[in-house]
Amino acid sequence: MADQLTFTDPVTRFPDITPPRQHQPEPGLDAELIPGTDRGEESYRGTGRLEGRRALITGADSGIGAAVAIAFAREGADVALNYLPQEEEDARHIAGLIRAEGRTVVLLPGDLADADFCRSLVEDAVEGLGGLDALVNNAGRQIAVESLEEIDDQQWTETFEVNIHAMFRITQAALAHLPAGSTIVNTTSIQAYEPSPTLVDYASTKAAINNFTKGLAQQVASRGIRVNAVAPGPIWTPLQVSDGQPKEALPEFGKSTPLGRAGQPTELAPAYVFLTSPESSYVLGETLAVTGGSPTP
Ligand code: NAD
Ligand code: MG
Repeated sequence: MADQLTFTDPVTRFPDITPPRQHQPEPGLDAELIPGTDRGEESYRGTGRLEGRRALITGADSGIGAAVAIAFAREGADVALNYLPQEEEDARHIAGLIRAEGRTVVLLPGDLADADFCRSLVEDAVEGLGGLDALVNNAGRQIAVESLEEIDDQQWTETFEVNIHAMFRITQAALAHLPAGSTIVNTTSIQAYEPSPTLVDYASTKAAINNFTKGLAQQVASRGIRVNAVAPGPIWTPLQVSDGQPKEALPEFGKSTPLGRAGQPTELAPAYVFLTSPESSYVLGETLAVTGGSPTP
């Protein structure tokens, strides 16, 4: 079976999908996504890059977070997974794959819009893993809305709560535990640079995440903690069908990238592994774009 290290043409490594119009209630499930995604279940091969590491990953049940969780476990890390209680089915699937690697997995469902939960999440991850030296702030909410007038206060606030306020709270709580050598990787987006007209609230949070990453990276560098970000382009995940895109845009999703296809979640995993592994020791405050070729500054 080909893995992520097999020499391949990136144009054809994964099929050029044309997803049918579909809708799932927020937050959406990988289990019901058409077509299904590749999170590396069959293809991600570990090479010992994260041996003995202890990682907390948010939004780890599905999509990019799930691919990162699988990759981290195969690279030798124990992982704590956060997700919403409605996503238990997806989370259990990923947890099963991690246990199959002989790694510890800690399941920590809960709502990141709740400030107290963000803080208790970190404490529970530390307890369950016996410490913490890697944090992946990946959870995010994206609801497309046609006009600014249609964005009500709750929509605006909840997007900021989940995407950036929770990142602040979780990171602040984690810093009390992270030893020198630890890493934080935040998920931003190409939307930080090229906002879609229907994603004004979401794209604003992604720009904030980039800035937060670059400022904090300098602040904690001397403590031996590295902070970086990954900016995905169009990746086929449940986020897109739970109102993340207008439904009529789904069949064309990702086709306008230079590679001509949407990305699969597993294509993101190596970026997170690299930024978490000690091999990237001189990389701080960087946003690594994984966009299928769409340019970023
Ligand atoms: P996804 O739906 O699989 O993952 C998002 C996860 O966020 C959900 O699984 C859920 O567990 C979590 N989440 C949402 N609201 C939450 C809440 N209130 N409390 C706790 N968890 C909550 O989709 P994905 O595309 O893999 O998204 C992962 C990250 O990637 C997000 O930050 C998203 O903004 C970012 N991103 C995605 C794309 C893309 O095209 N898919 C592009 C750029 C950035
Ligand atoms: Mg999910």
